[in-house]
Amino acid sequence: MRELIPGLWDMDTLPGAQAYIWEWDRGVTIIDTGLPGHVDRLLDAVTALGYRSDQVTRIVITHGDADHMGNARALARHTQAPVGCHAVEKEILEHPERRPWPSRGLGRALRPLFTLAARMPGLRALPVHPQELYVDGQRLPEGFRVVHTPGHTPGHIALVHPERKVLIAGDALNNRGGELHLPPRIATPDPENARRSVERLMRRYGKEIQVAVFGHGPPILEDAGPRIAAFLDRLGPG
Ligand SMILES: [Zn+2]
Repeated sequence: MRELIPGLWDMDTLPGAQAYIWEWDRGVTIIDTGLPGHVDRLLDAVTALGYRSDQVTRIVITHGDADHMGNARALARHTQAPVGCHAVEKEILEHPERRPWPSRGLGRALRPLFTLAARMPGLRALPVHPQELYVDGQRLPEGFRVVHTPGHTPGHIALVHPERKVLIAGDALNNRGGELHLPPRIATPDPENARRSVERLMRRYGKEIQVAVFGHGPPILEDAGPRIAAFLDRLGPG
């Protein structure tokens, strides 16, 4: 675990995707939870930061993939914190097997493999009932704006904190190997929409982003807005 900017902790020791802990004046908020079976690591991190488990104020899930929602149910049980996601993603958190997959290309060909993998312990997303449902533009008490960024999944969200100039991208973008990418097409049923989502996010919040953190890949701690804008430029006309 490491502190990226004051109060933003990167849980980079979880298998699967990275989770983030945000300290604020009412406790800590956890964004994403890694692959299932590792709730102890999240709880230990909360303790290490000096908080009791009942000081976890909410668990925000960017989208209903096992590597992001994996420990949400166990974490909610231990902390009594509400789980929140976009209203459209609720169905996937409650019924992970309904997550849509690409209907074309490699993603479609690999679908039997995904279905098989999704049943294995350690990769299986355990359903969780979200008590908080967000809509685009909603402001969370922590100061984050919810940005609906559909494409990778229908109810994917990113979070932007305009005052702290932070983007928590989830899988709207990834920075695998230190290079920006749109979400992988094999796991993205609507890649065109995934791209439009990032373009729209940048139009609305690009100037307010200095720091960006991702579900996959290292953080960008300076000039993240201009770097993401340059990445979109390189993609050319959509
Ligand atoms: Zn992911």
